Amino acid sequence: MQNRWVAVCMRIADVQPANVVEGTVARSCNECGQSCWLSPATSEEIGKDGRIICVVCYQALGLKLGDALIGAGSLKEAANHIRRQRLHERRN
Ligand SMILES: [Zn+2]
Repeated sequence: MQNRWVAVCMRIADVQPANVVEGTVARSCNECGQSCWLSPATSEEIGKDGRIICVVCYQALGLKLGDALIGAGSLKEAANHIRRQRLHERRN
């Protein structure tokens, strides 16, 4: 079986439309079906056969580099998102 690229995307519920780059489109997470933002750069990175997973499923699946082909850009975004979430949790 051929490895396919996986894009880790932010859920639309978590990110304001004003904060996404121009050309970003809404796509459904392949795991849970939640709507996610897919940026044009990430879309290009994963190609038309790539899978989309939201950051929540990414954490739940415990995906690492090597388990799946994850674009560097989306990995960085996911890491930033998780860090922000942890900071937020600590404050509450
Ligand atoms: Zn999901």
